Amino acid sequence: MEERKRPIVILGPMESESAYLIEKLSDPTEHPIGAYRFVSGLVDDHPVIVGRTYIGMVNAATATALAIEHFHPSLILIQGTSGAHHPDLHQGDIVLGENLVHLGRYFTSHRDSGEGSDHTRWTFPGTEIVSGGQLKEIAVLHSHPDVIDLAASIPYPHGKVIRGTIGAADIWNRELDMIDLLREKLGSDCEEMEGFAVAQVCAQLGVSCADIRVISNSERYAGEDFDESYGRYCQKFCLEVVRKLIATDLHR
Ligand code: SAH
Repeated sequence: MEERKRPIVILGPMESESAYLIEKLSDPTEHPIGAYRFVSGLVDDHPVIVGRTYIGMVNAATATALAIEHFHPSLILIQGTSGAHHPDLHQGDIVLGENLVHLGRYFTSHRDSGEGSDHTRWTFPGTEIVSGGQLKEIAVLHSHPDVIDLAASIPYPHGKVIRGTIGAADIWNRELDMIDLLREKLGSDCEEMEGFAVAQVCAQLGVSCADIRVISNSERYAGEDFDESYGRYCQKFCLEVVRKLIATDLHR
């Protein structure tokens, strides 16, 4: 008897970051779990589930935990839009999240009333994560390296594709001094609101994950304001990544 294949789960926070992938599933079946929408189907005869997480770290963590419990995936791929931190990144470019960092976990230093805020004195500790049976403070999580290597070989016509560090928090940074500080302290090439949360849940529940993002906005350049239509390019790219993963059996 053929062994039942474990599905690949692809997550996208917004409708504009998940609808294209849902459209591409053959034999789609809806699996609503509370407010979260999951649609199962086939890509090249392999089971794939597309989930809409909604925006933010808690939504992303919840959707990830639900997906793992309900569908027992071999891999969770989170994808969508992001804001550039790296000066060389522009709308349409893709960042393969070799490294994933938490941009919202900082401790401020004491200042008295009226002294204002000074983010240059903030420290950025790691996140408490249980890994290999041990409680550790971990500052950087990683996408599965085979997924990143394979994604780096996929042709992409809408910009460049780089390996880099993706930061996440329930924060939208538009102050360039803050963006530069985050780059200096944590090495972030771009920011979004879900990746690290997905990776943390995956790390703690023993599931492989990957984060791949398209740049939809950059504060450094006039005319590069948020444009959600870039989400479609990321979905198209990720579908090709998943097709190749299936063809090479690498995700098992
Ligand atoms: N609805 C809002 C934008 C979406 S909120 C609006 O219309 O203005 C942010 C979503 O886009 C999150 O899912 C996040 O992952 C992604 N995102 C894109 N650019 C971002 C940025 N510069 N900072 C934080 N999140 C960003």
